[in-house]
Amino acid sequence: MDRQQILDLYDWQLGVCFRHPGKGAVSTAIVKTIRPRGEEGRDVRACAECVIAIEDMRRETAARRESEDLTSDSDDSRH
Ligand SMILES: [Zn+2]
Repeated sequence: MDRQQILDLYDWQLGVCFRHPGKGAVSTAIVKTIRPRGEEGRDVRACAECVIAIEDMRRETAARRESEDLTSDSDDSRH
């Protein structure tokens, strides 16, 4: 998936990025909803840059998990 395809998965609205509050209102997407006890759910919004960074991190974690599985599979076949 390229950057644009990833960004197309999200709904974009004007808001403040949780990592770049100094930027002010920019085009942001909801990446998470926090629900503190006794309070209403609060949306965590991220700008395009941060959405890409979060997606990259997710895919890296998934890829690492996958390669670990492959390694353990080849270990099994050797026995
Ligand atoms: Zn940001």
